Formats: sequence, structure tokens, C-alpha cells
Amino acid sequence: MGDDLLALLKQADPDVSRILASERDRQETTLELIASENHVSNAVMHAAGSWMTNKYAEGYPGKRYYGGCEFHDQIENLARDRAKKLFGCNFANVQPHCGANANIAAFMAVLNPGDTVLSLPIKEGGHLSHGLKVNFSGTFYQIVDYVLDPKSEMLDYDQIERLALAHKPKLIICGYSAYSRVIDFARFRAIADKVGALLMADIAHIAGLCATGVHPSPFPHAHLVTTTTHKTLRGPRGGLIMTNDADIATKIDRKVFPGVQGGPLMHIIAAKALAFGEALQPSFKTYCQQVVKNAQALAADLQSRGYRLCSGGTDNHLMLLDLRPRDAELTGADAEKWLETAGIICNKNGIPNDPRSPVLTSGLRLGTPALTTRGLGEGDMKRVGEWLDRVMGSKGDAAVCAKVREEIRGFCKGYPLPH
Ligand SMILES: *Cc1c(COP(=O)(O)O)cnc(C)c1O
Repeated sequence: MGDDLLALLKQADPDVSRILASERDRQETTLELIASENHVSNAVMHAAGSWMTNKYAEGYPGKRYYGGCEFHDQIENLARDRAKKLFGCNFANVQPHCGANANIAAFMAVLNPGDTVLSLPIKEGGHLSHGLKVNFSGTFYQIVDYVLDPKSEMLDYDQIERLALAHKPKLIICGYSAYSRVIDFARFRAIADKVGALLMADIAHIAGLCATGVHPSPFPHAHLVTTTTHKTLRGPRGGLIMTNDADIATKIDRKVFPGVQGGPLMHIIAAKALAFGEALQPSFKTYCQQVVKNAQALAADLQSRGYRLCSGGTDNHLMLLDLRPRDAELTGADAEKWLETAGIICNKNGIPNDPRSPVLTSGLRLGTPALTTRGLGEGDMKRVGEWLDRVMGSKGDAAVCAKVREEIRGFCKGYPLPH
């Protein structure tokens, strides 16, 4: 299908088609280790590029502000029903354009400006939309930070409870961008109940794992659940909000539209419906299980090569590598740059209590969702670990990077993108 699409685009616009062809080639010939990325199926890609892009459908099914929405109602209802089935809840809003938008709407649904929110800051593995000063969340709300236990680098529930008792937040947030361990949603809910707070689980990274039971579900514990649809869930770029509380559901609908968004991206909602359908298949559970097996195999391999993993390992799809024990001089920024030259795509990431600035960092975040989609298994993780170590061990030596680049290019031929 990719070739048909490129042939059509080439006719219409050679400049655009050249860039898109280059991007397809980049994805085809490199190893994608960014923990928040994945490769969607061609069906999802097509749905996202379909006739549904032509329509205004402000409002919700049955209550639109535009005519001609019969099939937009059908597709949005299908997406909502599948989301509810997938996560086992009563309500879903599938309109948020992205995860950050889902969080804005969720905050607005249950908080007033100035209310107190207890969350993990970005430098500890949280997300910027959970309270970063320059973000909407840090601008309009009173943010109290909890931090990871400095020794175990894991969640410290006793500390979270102490902070909740001291600050009486209206909302407690769990769910992270760079945390490799299981989240105890029941414990979080017990803490929230103790202080009369609401619990929001932002499962942007682990949504696929939660949907398939590979990570415990945030339901019935969380009052609100927000997520992206494009990370482990392997759908189009987008957001999703869910709840079991009818009152919160009503507020969420009002805050998504007209609160923070105008017309929904109906082509993306069509692709969400399709992706949720894929995620309901038994094969998606097998996929998610393999994602975790691969992450654990890669983690073990890297540990055997002298790297330190924050928290000592992983229970999910990602790991946070502390580069310093392997090479005290090595920064995440250098490693990211060198690895890209060699055909390995990943991102630098601060580690808990990182002495270096966020532009340098001492860590790398690695994830296996995209590689697993391409069919790599645990046995392949040794090779991936070896390539990572050769590049970083050589300090980005040009000849080593070029050699690894060619090896990876050859290797990738055996693992085509979804088709
Ligand atoms: C990725 C992520 C988001 C935001 O997603 P966008 O679609 O980039 O806005 C929100 N929360 C967490 C925890 C994330 O990891």
C-alpha cells in the first residue's frame, strides 16, 4: 500500500512525496527505541487519512452543531463503545486531540484554578502536563510534588500519603512518562480516599498493557483515567478520557468541547475506532506480553554490559538507563546523537536526582513497543544491546557508527514495517 500512496502523492506534489518517502525509509531502516512511539497498522494509517477528515462535527453523537453527521455519529459511537469495552469502564470521550489536551480537559472538569494537585514532577519521570511551571498545569494550579524513593527509585507510597495528609490536594495524579515499575492504583485510591481527593491515572504510556492485563487496570480505582492512543496502545496520535462516575463524565464532555477544543478530528476518531478494534483481538495481548518480555531481555543484556537501570529493572515496556557507571563522562545528549548516526533512535532522559541539566542528562530512555510491532523477539535483544554498547563504548567513533548503521540496515530488512 505504501507504494500506491507514494505514487499518488508524487503526481500531486513531488516535494511532499519525497519527504514522506524519506521518512518511510528512515523508519524502515532504523531501530525505533523511543518508549512513547510505535508503528500503526496500515489499516489505522488509512483510516486516519480518510474522508472523515472533511467534516465539522462539533458536539457529540446525536447533538451536533452541523448537519451531515450521520456517519460521524456512528464512528464516534463505535470508538466510544470499543474504548469502554477495552478498558472496562462506563464512559469514554474519544475527542481529545492528544494526551496533553485530555489532561487539560480532565483538570478543568474536576478542579478550579488555584486548587492543589499532588503529582510526580517531570524530572522524576512525570509528564509536563502534571504540573510543570511553564505548562498550563503549573500556571493555573497549586502543584505539590511527590518524589521517588531516592534509594529504590520507586514510588514511595508512605511519602505520598504523608504529603496528601499535609496538603489536602483536590486531585492526586499517578501515571508517568519514564517509570518502569508497576503502579499500585489501589494504594493510590486508598490515599485519595483518606484525604477526600480524586485520583487521576494518566496511563498514556502503559495503556496497551492496562487494556490487556499485562499491567493492572486503573479501574475501578481511579476516578478519571486519561491516556494517549499512540504509545503502547498502537493507535493514531490522540487522546482519550474515561471514567465510571456519571457526574464527572458530564463535566468531561463539556470541558473537552466547548471547553478546550473546537471540531473533533473525525478521521483520527475513525482510526481510534479501528485501533481499539485491533487491541480487542487476542493477538494484541500476545503483543503486549512480548513488549514486556523484550524490555526485560534488553534490560538484562544492558546490565550484563555494565549499565545501571534506574530501579534495577523493568516491569513494563521501558527502562531508564543510568549511563554513568559504564562511562562517567557519557551524557544522554551525546549518546542520543551518536546512536542516531548508527540507526538507533532513542531519547536522552534525566534520571532521578540527575546532577546534569535536562539538555545533557545522565540517562537514556529505551522502550520496546515499536521493535516488538516489527516482530523482534527476546533473542534479538542481545543484538540490540550489543549495538547500543558498541556505539556508546566507542564514544561515537565515526567508523563504528557507520559500521553499525550498515548492520542495522541489513537487519531491518528481515523485520518490515506493518503492512
Ligand atoms: C505522552 C504523555 C502525555 C501526552 O501526550 P501528547 O499526546 O504528547 O500530548 C501525557 N501524559 C503522559 C504520562 C505521557 O507520557
